[in-house]
Amino acid sequence: MTHVQRSKPLETCARWPRIAQAAGAGLVLLVCAALLFAAAEEKAPAPAIEAPGLQAPDLRAVGIPQVLLLAAFAAAVFYVANWTFLDVRLVKTSRRVWSGLVLAGGLAGLAVAILIPLFYVGLPLGVILFAAAAVSYCVHRNGLVSENLTVLSRAHLARLKGRLGGRRAEIAESGPVGGTGRDIIFVGLDDLPIRLPTQSEEERLAARELERIFFEAVVRRATVVGLLVRGGKAQVRWRIAGQVVDGGELVRPISDLVASRIKQIAGLNPAETRRPQEGRLRIVVAGQTFELRVKSQGSVRGEQIAVRVIDLAASEMGPKDLGLSESQLETMTEALAKRPGLVLLSAPKNSGLTTTLHACLRHFDRYINSCLVFEPHVRLEVDNVQHVVLNQEDGSAAAEQVRSHLRTGPDVVAVDSLSAPEVAEALAAFTMEHTVLIGLRAGDAGEALAHLISLLPSTGALAGSLQLVANQRLVRELCPACKEAYRPNPEFLRKANLASRRVDVLFRPPQPTKTQQGKAVLCPRCGNLRYVGRAGLFELMPIDDEARDMIARGVGPADVRTHARKGGMQNLQEEGLELVIAGRTSVEEVLRAIKQTK
Ligand SMILES: [Zn+2]
Repeated sequence: MTHVQRSKPLETCARWPRIAQAAGAGLVLLVCAALLFAAAEEKAPAPAIEAPGLQAPDLRAVGIPQVLLLAAFAAAVFYVANWTFLDVRLVKTSRRVWSGLVLAGGLAGLAVAILIPLFYVGLPLGVILFAAAAVSYCVHRNGLVSENLTVLSRAHLARLKGRLGGRRAEIAESGPVGGTGRDIIFVGLDDLPIRLPTQSEEERLAARELERIFFEAVVRRATVVGLLVRGGKAQVRWRIAGQVVDGGELVRPISDLVASRIKQIAGLNPAETRRPQEGRLRIVVAGQTFELRVKSQGSVRGEQIAVRVIDLAASEMGPKDLGLSESQLETMTEALAKRPGLVLLSAPKNSGLTTTLHACLRHFDRYINSCLVFEPHVRLEVDNVQHVVLNQEDGSAAAEQVRSHLRTGPDVVAVDSLSAPEVAEALAAFTMEHTVLIGLRAGDAGEALAHLISLLPSTGALAGSLQLVANQRLVRELCPACKEAYRPNPEFLRKANLASRRVDVLFRPPQPTKTQQGKAVLCPRCGNLRYVGRAGLFELMPIDDEARDMIARGVGPADVRTHARKGGMQNLQEEGLELVIAGRTSVEEVLRAIKQTK
């Protein structure tokens, strides 16, 4: 892996502005030389024009200070014209009209300053002429960009002040300079934060895009970020919950800068666009660390960059990190400690089932116990656990595979997404003597139990070993920086059985607010996505002797659930309300999560 060079400027920057700068500087020097020459000429006696009431063209007054002032003016004109040439491309406005206007204003201003015989009248007039053109362009372009990219504005002043202070400036309402105002830090392999360069306008835009792409990827729980770079454009895609979601298109020079920057930070060679390369880096989003594994490769469609997003916290999670309440954690660890013991975990699709299954496996001492997990595909490995890919489409072949692994004598066996009756049957006998964790798709604990019973030829094995049935959802947690407190309606509290709890405030996502200029105010923590991170919401149905007896007698799962409810089991809705009262999520979010049953 190559060393990451942070200070090295990228080579994709446009070259022509430098040529224009050089030309501008040359012209300034020429003007200075001409004026110095004129000043020297004036020292020779010349016929004075005398006219009453009108002063003669006071060319003799042109000395070194005037020459310096003119040179400074000329330099300013060329600096601004040069900036405008670049800026029109970045804000995507008419290049001819606006850069033409600014350059014409500047040249006219210079001409006025030089040609009007009264120097201290001509120079201010020239400056006003030029400033009018430049300011009208700024007003026009500020209307096209977000607040933190404006110039000659309050936000711009705040940025400059911050830069002078040597720190990342806080923009009035948005956030860090050069970025999106989103809470994201790129971290190199040496654990040091990387500051994305934001010297030029294009670098600032590239940094903003890079932050947006990965911030949203994390907050929306994308597993892969894809970048297809071709013909000066880059197509951004996120893989979210197995679906490909469009992340927008970038154009040159931003597309090139974003692609090479991500490769550079990950330790790849930014100039290599064909041969396969692999590297990694980390990002910290709202305090959570994620590893990004970057692969780049040339293909017939262009250069493809695939970035796998791995939640490092999830890769070390045990049962206590799942978000269970204290009593739930006790129930869960007690059930896991029983041997023989069968723990049934369930959830609808994309609701964190695999994470919970892995967290439960981490509960066991994997140095003493030999642990084995069967999964449809291996996304993340648990240390010292043997992961076996199991395809259950062909039930009997899968069952044979399971049996051959069980013969090796594991202590703890887990199956993710159990669906084949043959596999359930192969496991049944094993549950009578060992610890087994089964994960399957279901909308609540009762449904999960019914599903497992339907997969088995008899309830004998269950009645002998089942300890716990869990069901779960994932709810998005409200952004702590922008969540809005409100006084709940008494009617709602009554319906939710909270009337006795003295709940004063609940929280919800805020209404969108706008600045005086009509732009959306950006939350520095969540970038206006309103939710940061997710929490598990659990319904745990402990299976006691009486419940096991009910199962053995063939009593329906709904009645087993009713029995558990009488014993104090909290359902998803009640657990969700606890999260709402704790201010971690909103009522709407809990309802949305519970509604999902498949
Ligand atoms: Zn926020």
